Amino acid sequence: MTPRPPAGARLRLLVLAPGEDGDAWRAAFLAADPTLEVRVWPEVGDRAQVDVAFAWKPPPGELARYPNLRAVYALGAGVDGLLSDPEFPRDLPLVRMVDPALGRLMTEYVTGAVLRHHCEWDRYALLQRDGVWERHARPFMSDRVVGVMGLGELGGRAALALAQAGFTVRGWASRSREIAGVRTFGGDRELDAFLSACEILVCLLPLTERTRGVLCAATFAALPRGAALVHVARGAHLVESDLIAALDAGQLRSATIDVFEREPLPPGHPFWTDPRILITPHVASITSRASAARTVVANLGGWMRGEPLRDVVDARRGY
Ligand code: NDP
Repeated sequence: MTPRPPAGARLRLLVLAPGEDGDAWRAAFLAADPTLEVRVWPEVGDRAQVDVAFAWKPPPGELARYPNLRAVYALGAGVDGLLSDPEFPRDLPLVRMVDPALGRLMTEYVTGAVLRHHCEWDRYALLQRDGVWERHARPFMSDRVVGVMGLGELGGRAALALAQAGFTVRGWASRSREIAGVRTFGGDRELDAFLSACEILVCLLPLTERTRGVLCAATFAALPRGAALVHVARGAHLVESDLIAALDAGQLRSATIDVFEREPLPPGHPFWTDPRILITPHVASITSRASAARTVVANLGGWMRGEPLRDVVDARRGY
């Protein structure tokens, strides 16, 4: 049976995102579609009247309390946080945010971080700190190999943009796929072959049971010595102590890290003061309200007219 509301009904959307500016989201949704009925948690009213929850970091168990919920729409691209709730209503479609603004922002961040490592500003920041005037020749971009782990909405775009910028780019996903100018590798069997040439490694994998901890000592050991890491996916991909050990051993030279096992990064965490690690506070690509609201409204509008929902997560795979 289709879970969509009856034809002609007014869609009732609940913004269930405690850390977000709910009123600003309501305004963005109404600007995109004034016919929507938008409620903002915790002022929910009758829970039985909510059709779709637009959710991000809801209190555990909360999504199970809406008896007529028809779909959950994630505010962000990664749905690991929602799926980690044991009471998440797995029988409902879970839609994730696939929005052009998200892809553009991520590509800009990744390109900037890769250029920083390519131009060795990471190395010169350390030399400046020590007052050392030391010059190093660097290769052309075309001779620098950048590897992107995860070739989905964000990783695929980033890999293409890096190739178009002039880098030698390789990519890794579950299955090898075609991206212009990118040499792709597929599956665990090809992981080491992929890693073996990556001087700058970018992680844009989803967090699943299969990818948790993938940025570990074995992965770092498979990279060329002195490689750099750009990590913008999810904190739990990275074994943080293995990163420090790889930096200490010189296997890695430096890292740009946007996502952490615990966010905000706790005071006293060694990353705060490690000059080899540039940290940013999970800002690689922040969902743009106006653009995201238009995307959600277009997707749900099509659904109300009888089209299939786009960007539905495969809950079994976890992405
Ligand atoms: P997608 O779901 O579109 O893409 C996932 C990619 O990862 C696919 O290419 C998939 O391959 C591949 N993949 C999944 N599992 C495996 C595996 N076990 N082995 C190899 N490859 C695998 O994700 P997005 O591009 O939308 O998002 C990527 C990441 O970015 C997520 O972790 C998300 O949370 C994060 N993110 C971070 C933000 C930030 O500000 N830092 C903002 C937004 C997102 P295949 O298709 O072959 O299965």
